[in-house]
Amino acid sequence: MQFNYIGNEARPSSSDRSIPVIDPSDGQVFDEIQRSNASDIDAAVAAARKCNDSVWSKLSGAERGRLLMRLSNKVAEHAEELALIEQRDCGKPTKQARADALALVRYFEFYAGACDKLHGTTIPYLDGYSVLTWREAHGVTGHIIPWNYPMQIFGRSVGGALAAGNVCVVKPSEDACLSLIRVAQLAEEAGFPAGAINIVTGYGHEVGDALARHPGIDHISFTGSPRVGTLIQQVAAERHCPVTLELGGKSPQIIFADADLDAAIPMVINAIVQNAGQTCSAGSRLLVDQAIYEPLLDRLGKAFTNLRVGPAVMDLDVGPLIRASQQQRVWDFLSDAQVANIAMVAQGQVVDEAPETGFYQAPTLLRDVPVDHRLAQEEVFGPVLSAMSFKDEDEAIAQANATQFGLVAGIWTRDGSRQLRMAKRVRSGQVFINNYGAGGGVELPFGGVKSSGYGREKGFEALYGFTTVKTVAIKHG
Ligand code: NAD
Repeated sequence: MQFNYIGNEARPSSSDRSIPVIDPSDGQVFDEIQRSNASDIDAAVAAARKCNDSVWSKLSGAERGRLLMRLSNKVAEHAEELALIEQRDCGKPTKQARADALALVRYFEFYAGACDKLHGTTIPYLDGYSVLTWREAHGVTGHIIPWNYPMQIFGRSVGGALAAGNVCVVKPSEDACLSLIRVAQLAEEAGFPAGAINIVTGYGHEVGDALARHPGIDHISFTGSPRVGTLIQQVAAERHCPVTLELGGKSPQIIFADADLDAAIPMVINAIVQNAGQTCSAGSRLLVDQAIYEPLLDRLGKAFTNLRVGPAVMDLDVGPLIRASQQQRVWDFLSDAQVANIAMVAQGQVVDEAPETGFYQAPTLLRDVPVDHRLAQEEVFGPVLSAMSFKDEDEAIAQANATQFGLVAGIWTRDGSRQLRMAKRVRSGQVFINNYGAGGGVELPFGGVKSSGYGREKGFEALYGFTTVKTVAIKHG
């Protein structure tokens, strides 16, 4: 049984209820988390406020930085343990689970170094005045986290908030809490004061909603679906609470005829099969110059056929999806494709060792997907790649920008002028030229436009969102 972590103490929920934890690789229950309620959020916010007022707000940036660096080192020492926890909880192949733990190390390391480098400005003004700005922490920040990359999203969101001088109340996804509870324990061992990092588990409509509504929360960082992002905005608007929204995507990979296909093909595949396609920035649309459409699909089809799917511990190309309802969601998209006569180019294989009770889905490549079909418009959040062709740059841009989303875009061409023209015209928060994701760099600001959200996390840029500016004008004559 897992407990909430409030004020550096493991605490049961006052509801006396729990939620089973299911291993996606075999569909079996192996643990329980607290099904918390609004009074647990009250307790967490009170612990956070006390910490903020009595300790955290009095620390210098350098002192916060030292604590974050100690936490980074603790996570590094326990990286294998954390990877194994995440693997079982989320069904992540070993390489992915380890990469996520190391990304968490890096987030805390990066934000440790940033703590004492955030500062305001002085502004030249009228004669007789001196004007300066202070960057002030919001205070108690709320963090609502999805299940696809719990450690990574915790690292970027909570790491940035703490560095900027805030304390945190975290609501992980009901499908992925275990690693974050362990990280909060490690934070206590690293010397974090009681109340700086609090974890409250439970369902979104119960405890997530209570967190977003709580008058003691001064800023909300939400990462999740556009649907819930809308609810968070509505609730936050009631009390004018600032919000950062990191929502979904339907990101295009745009391949021109002069692209280096040997470099592009493995990255196109990885961008849709990584984490079983359950990645907000998944490259889920493939836009291909008509001159190379057939040969490229031929090569990709062969590669898809060789992809293997199985239990997380087998560390194959693809692990299971997170839960049965996510598997059903992917099946629904694929049956819609059949109804619309969308042709399947190739599918990978689920290995015989995969238990029938696990939530597996073979990676699937579809071709000639109409731009307005839901497979080209909506997030599948599974390993399904929708391909279509274009005749020139204008059509490529029209297709790339033809969804409600704008998170990431990949552009593959050797023509330098075209690289920049395309990068300017595509509507997205990040653009990758002749690569996709740039290795995930924690230094790189991340976020979207349109229904992919607003505000930025990662990099130094995140610190501006986790602070507010106070202008001080002094008249001295
Ligand atoms: P989700 O929106 O269902 O849930 C996200 C979180 O919100 C969970 O912790 C959930 O419990 C909570 N929640 C649900 N209902 C709530 C409510 N009424 N009030 C408050 N909180 C509530 O998303 P998910 O299924 O966990 O994650 C998948 C989605 O997240 C996808 O759309 C994906 O693209 C998006 N995502 C975006 C990014 C990004 O950085 N842009 C990163 C990862 C995931």
